[in-house]
Amino acid sequence: MSFKDATLAEIDSAVHEAHIAFLSYKNFSGKKRASFLRSIADEIEALGAELVTTAMAETNLPEARIIGERGRTTGHCRMFADYIEEGSWVEARVDTAIPDRVPAPKPDIRKKLVPIGPVVVFGAANFPLAYSTAGGDTASALAAGCPVIVKAHPAHAKTSELVAKAIFKAMQSTGMPKGVFQHLHGANFEIGQALVKHPHTKAVGFTGSFVGGKALFDMANQREIPIPVFAEMSSINPVILLPESLEKNFESTAKLVAGSITLGVGQFCTNPGLILAMEGRGLEQFIEQLSSEIEKSLPGEMLHEGIAANYVKKMAQALAQKGVKLEVQAEQESKKGDKNQGRPTVASVPAEVFLKNQSLAEEVFGPFSLIVRCQDIKELNSVVSHVHGQLTTSIIGEESEISKHTNLLNIVSEKAGRLIINGVPTGVEVCPSQNHGGPFPATTDSRFTAVGTDALKRFVRPVAYQNFPDALLPEELRRSNPLNIWRIYNGEWKK
Ligand code: NAP
Repeated sequence: MSFKDATLAEIDSAVHEAHIAFLSYKNFSGKKRASFLRSIADEIEALGAELVTTAMAETNLPEARIIGERGRTTGHCRMFADYIEEGSWVEARVDTAIPDRVPAPKPDIRKKLVPIGPVVVFGAANFPLAYSTAGGDTASALAAGCPVIVKAHPAHAKTSELVAKAIFKAMQSTGMPKGVFQHLHGANFEIGQALVKHPHTKAVGFTGSFVGGKALFDMANQREIPIPVFAEMSSINPVILLPESLEKNFESTAKLVAGSITLGVGQFCTNPGLILAMEGRGLEQFIEQLSSEIEKSLPGEMLHEGIAANYVKKMAQALAQKGVKLEVQAEQESKKGDKNQGRPTVASVPAEVFLKNQSLAEEVFGPFSLIVRCQDIKELNSVVSHVHGQLTTSIIGEESEISKHTNLLNIVSEKAGRLIINGVPTGVEVCPSQNHGGPFPATTDSRFTAVGTDALKRFVRPVAYQNFPDALLPEELRRSNPLNIWRIYNGEWKK
């Protein structure tokens, strides 16, 4: 089965339909939208083994990973359903009128969040389910009340098509308007560009390369009416190893870090691409242990030829830089030949060299990590200050040692969206308190998260209603609070 590229006429008609659907979908109750999201989860589960085998064949990912990703996908559909059904997510605020206030009367003002309009979602290559057709961007936009047009990633088009069919079934069974979800195929930049430029498109969700995300972001800002692009692009997720703890725990730390570097053949935006440590016995023992773990690891097959070729190219560029030393590289698995294999690799570089060469702070997407050898904490702080914005930064050390380095804590909090103590960046818990975002170039807008219930806030805007008669107000803002939601009423939380 192959899928033809969407034509410009098909793109135009899809975005028009999404716009028409928006006019009714935006007014659907939270309950109704929740039933749609739950039905999507049920229909995805009903695809059964066919979805798992198709995704495995298209992505080279193992069964356990696909099953896990399917659980995450159905899980976030149900999480958003629960969130919007309850209703308090609209952040209702009410400030009642004071007609006799002097010198001027105060009007009645009430505010809530409303959906922004049709959202274009670019399916991610590295998450065929959880960040593709029914991924977090799609589920959060639908939850917010926005129709979605997905551009499927060509690397797993059949998987995406199966999921799209599940969503179409859910639309039918829950009475959703035509055009609330649409699915387009194509390996052609023109498709994405036409979707981003279309006047009825109101926001974009993207996960992929820095070059792709930044190009779409720039395009959206150059439109006659600019729109927000929430792009997750590039992060090397520094892991900082503090010296006293490293000397005691080098073995367990090396095992933990090796597992994170090699997980999913390194094809996670949270892969630990940079390890920072101070010169000394602890670091030498850590490198020795890490090398032995990496040597034992198997070089899995990467998602597709393009990603594998890019990994080989970017890694070779990093290794060719002056002052970079190859520490260890896993053997190729001879049985499989060299087809798309991502060989886990660790290199090291002195901090003074790293600080002078910006290219060493760029993402090498795959199981690659660069150890930066620092002379002292001052130099380590300089390295942390030098790297760009990140999704995460980890500090590995005992509490007593970490607490000595308040300046380091200050610097990392400026740089990353999630700070981790004694843990690795891979493994993103999906829950309301999660933040999966970070300063540029990790994402194009660090004020938002792509994971957790707050992901929905990317696709809403606030509207204030001044002096509205009760019957004309949205239900969430009426005087009797008929939905019984939490509101800030004259400065106090109330139901
Ligand atoms: P990509 O090349 O950025 O493509 C992602 C999607 O965006 C595709 O649908 C692509 O369309 C579209 N696109 C990219 N550039 C565009 C442009 N200038 N105009 C219009 N549409 C554009 O990412 P990828 O294919 O997933 O992987 C390529 C590289 O991205 C990887 O090797 C890796 O370095 C990086 N990556 C990073 C992350 C991360 O989380 N940090 C995740 C995945 C990938 P087409 O299908 O037409 O190409």
